Amino acid sequence: MPFCRRSTKEQYSEWICSVHWPMVPKRTRQRRSQAKRLLKRAHLHADREARKTQGYISTWRMNRIGALRRIASASWERCKREAIEAAGGLR
Ligand SMILES: [Zn+2]
Repeated sequence: MPFCRRSTKEQYSEWICSVHWPMVPKRTRQRRSQAKRLLKRAHLHADREARKTQGYISTWRMNRIGALRRIASASWERCKREAIEAAGGLR
């Protein structure tokens, strides 16, 4: 958050703190967690597939992971945007 002085020492390169996170509309947060969940599941499937095929992962699966990564990233950008909008000047 450009206005937020709270931060985390964890591995996240970007982070919305517990003060600003609830300002993100619920629907947007749900979309974000759903995208993360789908991405995680796609990774699990890819791992399983790779174990069966000595490391080969089908193109469509790689494409799906790529698409889900873009969706997850876009949903994160939306969280940031809406948190900034909601916080508008309040801090
Ligand atoms: Zn904050």
